[in-house]
Formats: sequence, structure tokens, C-alpha cells
Amino acid sequence: MPKIKICQKCILPETFPGIKFDENGVCKYCLKEASALANATEKKADYHKKFDQLIQDTKDKAPSYDVIMAYSGGKDSTYTLKLLKEQYNLRIIGLTFDNHFVSPGAWKNIEKVADILQIDCIRFRPPWPVAHQIFSLTAGKDIFSKPTLLRASSVCTACIGLVKSLVLKTALEMSIPLVAFGWSPGQAPIQSAIMKTNPALIRQTQSALKKAFPAEINSSMDSYFIPETYYERYKDRFPQNIHPLAFFDYNEAHIKHELTEMGWQAPSDTDTNSSNCLLNAFANQAHIERNGFHPYVWEIANMVRQGIMDRDEGIEKIYTEQNREMVEYAKKRLGL
Ligand SMILES: [Zn+2]
Repeated sequence: MPKIKICQKCILPETFPGIKFDENGVCKYCLKEASALANATEKKADYHKKFDQLIQDTKDKAPSYDVIMAYSGGKDSTYTLKLLKEQYNLRIIGLTFDNHFVSPGAWKNIEKVADILQIDCIRFRPPWPVAHQIFSLTAGKDIFSKPTLLRASSVCTACIGLVKSLVLKTALEMSIPLVAFGWSPGQAPIQSAIMKTNPALIRQTQSALKKAFPAEINSSMDSYFIPETYYERYKDRFPQNIHPLAFFDYNEAHIKHELTEMGWQAPSDTDTNSSNCLLNAFANQAHIERNGFHPYVWEIANMVRQGIMDRDEGIEKIYTEQNREMVEYAKKRLGL
């Protein structure tokens, strides 16, 4: 059991910024969300219907692909890929951001899954000096806003920000109407599971991401962002973002079983909160040291609250020390 006080229902700790507990030790998020959770099944069915309609409207209409998937090779994005292919038979292209810390096991999974599902893949790899700059900066310092840091470490936020930017840029260039993500139901709310992007919104998020980085790093990342000319030139091409795991049945054991059947294997060299990234353990530890809470606690607490993860399993994932070897491995590679 963790040494600090945590919510009796979910697992948010007393060190989580702004948290309050009632007399039974239940946090304000659990109290607030009880009513929303009551009609979760209805809401999921609603979104499922909306999604089926969206697929009907978009499938086979674009010149090349129906969907580009941000494909990390981890279990959630692999399962999403499988759903999109097997249940909807979409024309899919996957984009994997090679952050130089993708586990060799994850690469094997990516290749195997892409072959089995017959999916084209792009591997986007920034040169090491650029990746090194981005990750040594974010491992050592929190460069993003406080609300952002409640949900993820600076390392993850930087990496995912670039992934989002690259898949969107590719979607615009290739005229792909859907951009898919494998967010777990704890990572992103169902309200954003089907969301049309637009130039104004994207310009704003791009600018926030860019501004977080110092100028000398920004200059080497220029081509990873949406060029200003695209907002006008491709204004009619802005895609729908989708993350279907928010409204499909989500059960980690079932997902792992289905993936294993396909030949996907959980890498043995990643931490308990990632099935693809070798930098994650160090990113987690740095975040805990600076902020006093685990960067995955929000996601895992959501899943516990929604009843899709066991509370004990959540506690185990969040309140266990980071694997020292993995922390040292990442530190050494970053020269820190
Ligand atoms: Zn709670």
C-alpha cells in the first residue's frame, strides 16, 4: 500500500494538485463523476452509432487512405488498429514516431501486426541530436502548463505533441479524412472520441506546443509542425480525430488475449505503464520527483473509477517504484 493518503474509490493521492476528500476519504472527482458514470453505457452506444455513421460517410471516398493511425506498437494502438481493420475494413496507414526509445520488441510487434492486418506503415525518425535535445530538456524540466502536467509527464507531452502534429500534417498532405489514436478510456474522455479538427483550433494548439520549447530547439523541429500556408490551402481537408477505445468495450485482459493470439508480445523491457517506450520509466520518475505524483495516476484513476481496472491493479501500477535499471538506461543514453 502507498505511504500517502489516497482516495478510497479511485487512487488519486493527497499530493494531486487541488484534490479534496470527503469524510469517507472519497475524492471530489469520484463524487462529481458518479452521475456521469451512471449513463456511461448509453453514452457509449450513442458514440458507437455516431462512429458507424461517420465510417459510412467517409469510407472509400478519399483518394488513398481512409485513416491514418498514430501507431506506437503498444497494446492500445495495436488493438485500435485491429478494430479499424477487422470491423470496418478501412484503408489504413500507420505512422510510428521513432523517438529513439521504442523498444526492439515493440518494433517487432509493429512489423508483425502490420503484415497480418496488411497495413502500410511510415516510420518517422528525427535525427538523434534532435531527439536528444527534446528529451534531455523535458526529462530535466517541466516546460508545459500546470493543467497539462496533471495528465502526463513533460517527456510524454512533448513526444505525443509531435506525434499529433505529424499525423495531422500527413493527413492534410495526403488528403486522409480520419486520424486515429489509441487513447485508453482513462486517457481521453468520450466527449472527444469523435472530433472534427479545424484550422483555428489547430493553429492554437500548435502555437502552444511550439512556445513551450526554447527557440534553439524549435528551429530544428520546424518541419514537424503544420506550415502556416496549410491553414488556408487545406482548410477543407481538416480531418476528424477519432479514439474508438472510448466507446468500445475495454478490458485489458481481453485486449492482451486478442493481441497475443495475433502474435503480439508484451515487450519485457518496458515499465508497467507502457508497452513500447524505454524512456517512460525515467520520465515517470522525474515527474514524480518534481510534482509529487505519478504522471499516469489521472489515467489509471479514471479507469478504476469507470470500473475497467481493478483498484488493486491500479495501485500496483502507480505506487510501485520505477525499475532502476530502466531509469539508469534512459539517463545514460541522454547523458544525464
Ligand atoms: Zn477518487
